[in-house]
Amino acid sequence: MTVLAGRRVLVAGLGVAGRSAVAALRDVGADVSVTSDGPVDGGFPAALLGPLDRVPDGVDLVVASPGYRPTHPLLADAAARGVPVWGELELAWQLRGDGGAAPWLALTGTNGKTTTVHMLESILRTAGSNAVAVGNVGVPVIDAVRDPALDVLAVEVSSQQLHFAPSLHPAAGAVLNLAPDHLDWHGSFEAYAAAKFRLLDADVAIGNLDDPLVASALPAGAVGFTLGEPAEGQLGVLDGRLVSRAFGDDRAVLAAVGEIRPAGAHNVANALAAAALARAHGVGPATVGEGLRSFIPDPHRNQSVLVRDGVEWVDDSKATNPHAASASLNSYERIVWVAGGRLKGVDVDPLVAAVADRLAGAVLLGEDRRLIETSLARHAPEIPVIVVDSTDDGAMTEVVRAAARIAGAGSTVLLAPAGASYDMFADYGARGDAFAAAAREVGR
Ligand code: ADP
Repeated sequence: MTVLAGRRVLVAGLGVAGRSAVAALRDVGADVSVTSDGPVDGGFPAALLGPLDRVPDGVDLVVASPGYRPTHPLLADAAARGVPVWGELELAWQLRGDGGAAPWLALTGTNGKTTTVHMLESILRTAGSNAVAVGNVGVPVIDAVRDPALDVLAVEVSSQQLHFAPSLHPAAGAVLNLAPDHLDWHGSFEAYAAAKFRLLDADVAIGNLDDPLVASALPAGAVGFTLGEPAEGQLGVLDGRLVSRAFGDDRAVLAAVGEIRPAGAHNVANALAAAALARAHGVGPATVGEGLRSFIPDPHRNQSVLVRDGVEWVDDSKATNPHAASASLNSYERIVWVAGGRLKGVDVDPLVAAVADRLAGAVLLGEDRRLIETSLARHAPEIPVIVVDSTDDGAMTEVVRAAARIAGAGSTVLLAPAGASYDMFADYGARGDAFAAAAREVGR
């Protein structure tokens, strides 16, 4: 382990992970101080320096939270003066201890990370491991590496964390997909992609062959997965089943496509990624299947919340960018699409063009509703489109009433907004809950 005892470490940012970093660094004897640009509530045992745009003299290392972009003056100053900057992931990697540390099975991607890491956790637990999903979800990874009871970590990794993780080299690393997102943080799509592909620097690199950008980044010897028929050394789908032809498997059956929850081709891809990570760790094919079958999906991700009068109501509030919404819309046939929110500057027009022929109607809400309306007028001029202008507590009820009017039997009312929720709701969960509650209420 890197010797941190006695080193002067500046922790930048005091979210959950920042607090874990402070505790862990103090435990290994580092001399810790803290800077935060935001308000700090509650005391904690380290010197608080307030906002900084220069690294104080004598600081050996900066540990930065994802709230700090590489262009933040503090980090720019660290770079200019040769002071290393680690994210929480790098700190966790450095703290994990020598010999016998729990291996990391890590994954990243623009979409599907949380679903996949929980599928993997389910598989590992089915295999009898004391495993936990860490990273962006659940337990901070810094806390997990300090827990000797854990024998393997399923790690969800964001591009921001990878940017500041120079020495990370997990037992297995998977990239699920890649589409524009977080460009404001990284500065360019190339920088975002480069950060994601850092995860392919692993003992076993795993990647999605159906995503051309990911496929082209895979190193020799990587294990690819595909929704098509797998070649030797790959995982894929054969006769309606997920099969493995990697890790020495001879078309080993993992599960039937129909057994994968939540529904949708994107979740079959997620399941293949989780299966590959688990197989890299030595979990047998039958156990992989059992773990996938016992996986309980996370809420707000293609969650069926109601079926009434032949209409299914699906909450995919977590589809907060067009790439996610596209996967979702491609999973249903006749859709009344509930969309809108904050598009974060991403162009929604290609998505609308691609899914127009599946739409039976659309109901739009939130800040960027007019942008989607314009695209719908261009690509689906014949379908009913209702725009809800109100933004108060009753808005979702209005949305649901409008959707109920245009949804015929056999169709799906799909909340897959393609935008963030913060314009109208506390978060995507609150948006999904409002949708589900209104759907159950309306028409009773
Ligand atoms: P993340 O943690 O990366 O945000 P989630 O598992 O929470 O991913 O899924 C977020 C949303 O992304 C889902 O609600 C769904 O709409 C979409 N999605 C899930 N998996 C994929 C995938 N493999 N490819 C594209 N979109 C996906």
